[in-house]
Amino acid sequence: MTTPLQMPPWSYSGLTSFETCPKRYYHIKVAKDAIDNPGEAAKWGSTVHKYLEDRLRDGTRLPVSVRGYEGLVAPIANAPGEKLVEHQMAVNSSLKPTEWTSQDAWCRGIVDAGVLSRSLNKAVLLDWKTGKRKADNDQLMLFAGLAFSHYPELQIVQTGFVWLKENKIDKQTFKREDISTIWMTFLPRVQRMERAYEKAEFPPNPSGLCRNYCPVPKHKCEFSGKQ
Ligand code: SF4
Repeated sequence: MTTPLQMPPWSYSGLTSFETCPKRYYHIKVAKDAIDNPGEAAKWGSTVHKYLEDRLRDGTRLPVSVRGYEGLVAPIANAPGEKLVEHQMAVNSSLKPTEWTSQDAWCRGIVDAGVLSRSLNKAVLLDWKTGKRKADNDQLMLFAGLAFSHYPELQIVQTGFVWLKENKIDKQTFKREDISTIWMTFLPRVQRMERAYEKAEFPPNPSGLCRNYCPVPKHKCEFSGKQ
């Protein structure tokens, strides 16, 4: 009989990583016997996030290499309201706010930048993107769901991906009445992940990325190209 595994709080990136390939997710996140080393693009993304965080939190001037992003950061820095910078939000399985490290944390998310206007019952939540522009609004939906739980006064949450290289923003607005739609989008997906933990079953999902991009070695997955 297989021993059930304890599922940690889920995040959007963890969920999508599981959905891409449960076996890859298992070896990187659960067994931790494979390491997903960040490539140059991911390292650059982390560096840029830190520059933008320092700019918004402390007013630190952006370095020359990213000074062109000032026009995207300044409106947030200058907006009236409470600034949110690398802001962590966690909820329990009843969708009540809880501490990030709390035992009952069920879902967690970090908003890169935002402005909370409590008097207007409104928030703007943004995610910096250093990669190529693509459509994936589910992450924005999750931000809104977490924010509605954390700030009961919010009626409207405007979310957006800020595509730094392309100087574009993809926005999506959510209303408090969208809460059940938001969570119903995620629940069946999270339940699949919960079942995988319960049964300790993380099957492979081979794709065109296996051979050249998977860090799981071949002796653990037959589809891998990594020795
Ligand atoms: S090689 Fe492919 S199928 Fe195997 S773990 Fe990696 S991504 Fe999944």
